[in-house]
Amino acid sequence: MSEILEGPCAIALGVDRLGEGKLVVFPTETVYGLGANALDAKAVERVFALKGRPATNPLIVHVSGIVMAKTVVAHWPEPADLIAKAYWPGPVTMVLPKAQCVPGIVCANGSTVAVRCPEHPCALALIESFGKPIVGPSANPSGRISPTAPEHVADGFPDADLMIVDGGHCRAGIESTVVDLSGETARVLRPGIIGAHAISETIGQPVACVTKSHDDPIAKSPGMIGSHYQPRTPTKLVAADELGSATGSVTLIAWSIGSHPAGGVLISMPAKLDAYASAIYRALHDADREGQSAIWIEEPAIGYGPDDQAIRSAIMERLERAAHK
Ligand code: AMP
Ligand code: MG
Repeated sequence: MSEILEGPCAIALGVDRLGEGKLVVFPTETVYGLGANALDAKAVERVFALKGRPATNPLIVHVSGIVMAKTVVAHWPEPADLIAKAYWPGPVTMVLPKAQCVPGIVCANGSTVAVRCPEHPCALALIESFGKPIVGPSANPSGRISPTAPEHVADGFPDADLMIVDGGHCRAGIESTVVDLSGETARVLRPGIIGAHAISETIGQPVACVTKSHDDPIAKSPGMIGSHYQPRTPTKLVAADELGSATGSVTLIAWSIGSHPAGGVLISMPAKLDAYASAIYRALHDADREGQSAIWIEEPAIGYGPDDQAIRSAIMERLERAAHK
């Protein structure tokens, strides 16, 4: 049985556990992370084992700020400094050449490391008190929906004996933007609520987006290929005009209707895109628990302006993966 704890005692206990090479689930502003000492290969191995995560999918190293970030990278280029100053603590991860102290397992034995300073006060308190970087992949079995609340974590790992730091519901609600700064041009490997256009303005350079085509295995972030974020229930992405043909056994996740056309379960979503992003994983967890024959998700509202458009494409990227092929 996992235990859900909150407050300063939870942080202190979490620090003890991290020091013993154990796992601690912690909240971030994006999703809940499965934390372990990033400099302890054995502890990191436990993260891969519990998640069932392929060894080819590297982990994000969470730091308390720029000073700690510099200890895990071999080189801290000017764009990294500009991005960190503009968005940290916050939902942007940077891929940079790795320092020797980072065990190979963290980086799937590659030459780069992904690093981020999360914004949630519990995450920051945990990293600062521990004094070392913490890996923190989403705290769900590999391939399943990311958790945005402590109960999602406990549901995902019913047999594990985890300590979960309760930080409430995650504000941003979808995973961080991953931007690769290790090559000649900056590239967004995973879209998030901070868009490529915003990062490009921040660093004064063009930023490529390489996540558009899911089938292009070249230049992808490892671990971004194929299905991901999937509910157990067969899930389909639909346009607004298809909602009327839903039967009672279809759970609808929709923002444009006030009731289910056939009297089934409707999970109402906000039309505003940042609020939609914050709510979508909870909606998917809830819909999955309804145990109906299918889940239909109405495509989110169209975004106006570059910020909303970036959030919408980040959401769509997750929804397309959630839809069963
Ligand atoms: P998760 O923590 O489960 O949300 O996934 C972490 C994401 O960061 C995955 O999409 C990884 O592929 C990506 N990532 C982590 N490390 C690297 C790296 N060294 N190079 C490229 N992408 C990375
Ligand atoms: Mg994940």
